[in-house]
Amino acid sequence: MDPILTGLLKPKTIAIIGASSTPGKIGYNVVLKLIESGYQGGIYPVNPKDSEILGFKAYPTVNDIPYVVDLAVITIPAKFVLDAVKQCGEKGVKGLSIITSGFSEVGDHETEDAIVRVAREYNMRVLGPNIVGTLSNSDKMNASFAPFLPLAGKASLVSQSGALLIAMDASTFTRHIGFDKMISIGNMSDVDFSDMIRYLNEDPDTSCISLYIEGLKNGRSFMDEARQTTKPIVVLKSGVSAHGAAAAASHTGSLAGAARIYGSAFRQCGVTQADSLDDLFDKTLALSLQPRMHGDNLLILTNGGGVGVLATDAAEKYGLPLHFAPEDVQEELKHHMPDFGSAKNPVDMTGMAGNEWYRETTQFSYAHKWVDGLVVLYCETAQTDPQGIAEAILKGFKDSGVTGKPITVSFVGGDKSEAAMGWLVENGIPAYGAPDLAVKALAALRDDARMAEMAHSTVFKPEDVDTELAKKIIKDARSKGRTALTEIEAKQVFSAYGLPVTATLLSKSEDEAVKFASEIGFPVVMKIVSPDILHKSDAGAVKVNIKDEAGVREAYQTILKNSLAYNADAEIDGVVVQEMAPWATEIIIGSVNDATFGPTVMFGLGGIFVEVLKDVTFRVAPFSVEEAMSMQDEIRSAAILRGARGEKPRDRKALADVLAQYAYMVNDLVDEVAESDANPVIAYEEGKGVKVVDARIILTKK
Ligand code: ADP
Ligand code: MG
Repeated sequence: MDPILTGLLKPKTIAIIGASSTPGKIGYNVVLKLIESGYQGGIYPVNPKDSEILGFKAYPTVNDIPYVVDLAVITIPAKFVLDAVKQCGEKGVKGLSIITSGFSEVGDHETEDAIVRVAREYNMRVLGPNIVGTLSNSDKMNASFAPFLPLAGKASLVSQSGALLIAMDASTFTRHIGFDKMISIGNMSDVDFSDMIRYLNEDPDTSCISLYIEGLKNGRSFMDEARQTTKPIVVLKSGVSAHGAAAAASHTGSLAGAARIYGSAFRQCGVTQADSLDDLFDKTLALSLQPRMHGDNLLILTNGGGVGVLATDAAEKYGLPLHFAPEDVQEELKHHMPDFGSAKNPVDMTGMAGNEWYRETTQFSYAHKWVDGLVVLYCETAQTDPQGIAEAILKGFKDSGVTGKPITVSFVGGDKSEAAMGWLVENGIPAYGAPDLAVKALAALRDDARMAEMAHSTVFKPEDVDTELAKKIIKDARSKGRTALTEIEAKQVFSAYGLPVTATLLSKSEDEAVKFASEIGFPVVMKIVSPDILHKSDAGAVKVNIKDEAGVREAYQTILKNSLAYNADAEIDGVVVQEMAPWATEIIIGSVNDATFGPTVMFGLGGIFVEVLKDVTFRVAPFSVEEAMSMQDEIRSAAILRGARGEKPRDRKALADVLAQYAYMVNDLVDEVAESDANPVIAYEEGKGVKVVDARIILTKK
């Protein structure tokens, strides 16, 4: 473990700079909360005016403390903070928790940067500024102005919002969801989410990392850290900034909103996403108490048909559709229900189910090798006692002698059910007030396992790449003062990275066009080449299916005429003649250089799918061929690629290769390519490959 971060987050001694004996002041509260939480380490209030605060000796400056100081909690006004930081550096403090606000969040980046500079000079780490502080049950430490430690548990929360942290802290008791640590991360001047993930992954008291994120400073380092984590991470992301959508010179640019890229990036690095605050709590509960689910066989036990059906619907909705249990499982389960029960799946023991049946079916099902995950549902009845049922479920679970697969529970009822669920949670079984929530939580454990596998798939690296050629083409275009490549230039770059582009030749005269057309072979396609006409068909400057020499001559003239009519000042490089790709399924591939995550690839079907339905998906580049396959499964129109309505399946393998290759290219050219499109790419039936027929590259500004 990083000793400096440990000093910051698990300090043996704490100085409170700005400690006060005036009740109500933050500097008073921090000392009080430390005492109330039972903190066993050294508490050293620092205040030049008082000699004693809340029974502890106070020191005029941090340098007057005659002991080693691990952590300094700073609560003094913003204008004094920098000096205090210097003093802490001289004293040899390890970590600073700067509660004081009034820095970059109100526009003062200068002071905040200066604080970090000084801290680095002295090898200190800075949490904040503008934070609530840090809380830890296992260290009995409330080094914050939050009122009390959260309900003890195995999850740890890192929050970019201080107010939300305090609110969540309080609600851990009513929601029965325990946390070990709650850490407020504030302005992230130094310590950021990546640091916290790394630290908490090694923290023996944390089993699940919960994050509330408003925005990341460096998306890539977050992803790298998340990928290396062995513990589940769940994140609630709020705030959709405009940065991703800002520049929209390409099709991809206009579709790539920040929220979508964040979503894709989280999935890619194996981070579970919560869609609301409730969902953050619900998923945290399951991920902190139960293991991942390795396999798709979910079995549901119930005493009520209604909740069983609701759970079945939820299973399908959250990607875990139910299968009937095998014969031997059904045969055994039939012994624990009346004749009118059902042993299929969901297993309906009917309202006659009492403690014994619950215990027996839980024990048998959980132990059975077919079952990868178990959901136990219960509706409160007049004949049963919720606490008795809860105890029966726990006993069955424990007596199964099996571990390593997840179980969740839902009780629907009143106060007694509520209390029984609280008891189950205390005993390590996530329990929810609605059947769909129990299923959703289990599905999160399944998804977490799937994502963890994918997050470790090997990034694709092509063998034959001519980076020099690609860079030369880009340099030549830049030397002419251009920031957009023409189609033929972009295709040369694509081709240098091994992408399958249509054979394309640049003609400067009608005769040359005729010559190229017969070289390529009819039919051909002809298009204008002009840095000033990026959307060629808008200008009437694309002619397809040209069958003979006369057609080439006519097309040449028409394309020039239309282009000049469209933009009289357009600089014309010539007219390309290219191989005509037979028509099949139209695909769009593109990239943006996202402000947070860097080069990111978009994929979708072309035409109305992208124009109207915006049915596209993203991945941060580079990625594996497996990821590229999962992109194809993720779009709503995925069935079309698998061969819908009597059509043969498309060449998904070739498409995956091209996507991974494309990602490699835009990542390799991160300094050069701001946005790009391959629109359209034509996908043929299995074994017949794909073809890029149009290419666009917008260069970065230099
Ligand atoms: P732009 O997007 O600049 O308008 P494209 O090069 O994409 O121009 O051409 C417009 C349309 O013409 C394409 O969407 C495609 O339908 C068709 N097309 C272009 N090039 C080819 C080709 N080589 N083979 C077959 N069809 C083509
Ligand atoms: Mg196009």
